[in-house]
Amino acid sequence: MSDSLGPKAHIPSDIVRKKYNFSDLINVEELQNLVEVNYAATGMPSGIIGVDTGEIYAGAGWQRICTHFHRAHPKTNALCIKSDTFILNKIQAGEPHAYKCANGLWDIGVPIFCFDQHIATYFLGQFFYDDEPVDLEFFSKQADQYSFDKKEYLDAVRSVPRFKREKVQEILRHNIAMSKFLSNLASRNMERQMELEHRKRTEIELVKLQNYLSNIINSMPSAIIGVDPAGNVTQWNNRAEQLTGIPQQKAINAEIETLLPSLSGIMQSITRAIETREKQFDLKRRFHSDGKTHHEDITVYPLIANGVEGAVIRIDDITERVNLEQMMIQSEKMMSIGGLAAGMAHEINNPLAAILGYTHNIRRRIFGSLNKNEVVAEECGISLDNIRQYIENRDILKMLDGIQESGERAATIINNMLSFSRKSEKKYGRYNLEQLLDDTLELLVIDYDFKKRYDFGKIKIIREYTADTPAVYCEGNEIKQVFLNLLKNASEAMADKHYSHASPCIILRVKQDDDMVLVEVEDNGPGMDETTMKRVLDPFFTTKPTGKGTGLGLSVSYFIINDQHNGTMTVDSAQGKWTRFSIRLPIITTEEL
Ligand code: ADP
Ligand code: MG
Repeated sequence: MSDSLGPKAHIPSDIVRKKYNFSDLINVEELQNLVEVNYAATGMPSGIIGVDTGEIYAGAGWQRICTHFHRAHPKTNALCIKSDTFILNKIQAGEPHAYKCANGLWDIGVPIFCFDQHIATYFLGQFFYDDEPVDLEFFSKQADQYSFDKKEYLDAVRSVPRFKREKVQEILRHNIAMSKFLSNLASRNMERQMELEHRKRTEIELVKLQNYLSNIINSMPSAIIGVDPAGNVTQWNNRAEQLTGIPQQKAINAEIETLLPSLSGIMQSITRAIETREKQFDLKRRFHSDGKTHHEDITVYPLIANGVEGAVIRIDDITERVNLEQMMIQSEKMMSIGGLAAGMAHEINNPLAAILGYTHNIRRRIFGSLNKNEVVAEECGISLDNIRQYIENRDILKMLDGIQESGERAATIINNMLSFSRKSEKKYGRYNLEQLLDDTLELLVIDYDFKKRYDFGKIKIIREYTADTPAVYCEGNEIKQVFLNLLKNASEAMADKHYSHASPCIILRVKQDDDMVLVEVEDNGPGMDETTMKRVLDPFFTTKPTGKGTGLGLSVSYFIINDQHNGTMTVDSAQGKWTRFSIRLPIITTEEL
């Protein structure tokens, strides 16, 4: 009978039992209506009762003999339960079962299934068959045994409906059909509910997965921007927001080149990436923002997943890495060139000293008032005055001056070169860098040689000194030398620029930066292109005409800062706009000294 009553089982029964109640699957109010109408039509009492809970979902025609007597007395109730259980066990297999209870009344149970799970029972009864004489004696005895009011009890017995056997069969057929209908309905509804729940669970999973993925994308240190083939933004992670200052809501669906004009040409890379299915690179792009040079790597990856066309743009800010690389390259370069220069300087120093010494002696031995000059001239039979006259007339004296001047100039260069190796005999102390800067400025103003060439007074000096910047332990004169080089370079560079709106200006900044003091010397001069910027710290690199520049000012400064003070010196510039030298010197506590 299970085939005819319940649909085929394919859902584990524990799921059915655990998760769904009969009343979740069937509208019990409508069912109650049906049961009542059925009772009115047939006079057969019936009830639909849950298997596990015993809950009554619907019922009509309850008999007084049950409600007032048998179910009300513990002992007779035990008999009722016994018969209920018996019926339940019998109908597990799916067959309806008729049973005459221990209290003497008939009951027929028809199981209702949800898939293979017996979830409720459609009970018919209680009733008597009309061909069976009612055993009033038995009921009398029952009344005595359980102290029921005999008259009322027997009245209740008499009012129990009596049916012909054929009639009961007819009603039973109806109930079997009804149970089958309810079984199908319950199973179908359960399937639908499970489907709904599955869909809900899938949706939750999807949302979770989406959150998980956007968490991953957002925690990336790179800016990740998704675009469709037309270049409209589909993804915009946190880093992209940070890097561009454009919030995600504004970015999504916007056209990438309109949104980020600085990414001009990116559309070409996107199209090429999608067409060739190969990533496209644009490495180490250089740009200015917030008055600083930045570097970024841009990679465009094609999206190759099925059904999704588009690309992902990854932008990495590599400014720090590039700066570090440049600093390391510079430091390596300085180590080798600096060493070489110092070595050369030592070698040249001796012959140069000889040249200068001999020039000095030649002068003394011709123009000096040494006795020996007269004596030797006389021995040679020439008058010293004649020799002097001859030398003057032949411009030899000027040549001597030339030798001396050139020699002295060479000596200055050699002296500078020697500072690449000099480390000892320095007078270190605690200095406020603001003070050293101001001292240097004063020096520059009174530097006659410099004043001759540049009108330093015309340059506007803006001091941005942060109060209470700690002093640093350094060689004051050396640091002043560095500042002097930077200020001179700035003045020289600004002299080459034609100012239409602004005027020449140097900004001096001093502030603490972690455990360093940062000094910035920034001018609004002509700036430099990238190749010049890469080479400015190299010894002997100069863009100035011969005789004017030695190309040593910055390299010596670099050496003083990096090598002798464990600091750093870096340069940044925007061509045509500004140049900024940044010097960091470590703050050393007294205990470290
Ligand atoms: P020099 O001043 O003898 O040329 P430096 O080492 O002092 O040597 O400077 C090297 C080069 O760096 C200069 O020739 C110039 O091209 C460039 N430079 C230095 N400072 C600046 C500046 N403030 N603005 C523009 N260019 C500069
Ligand atoms: Mg210079």
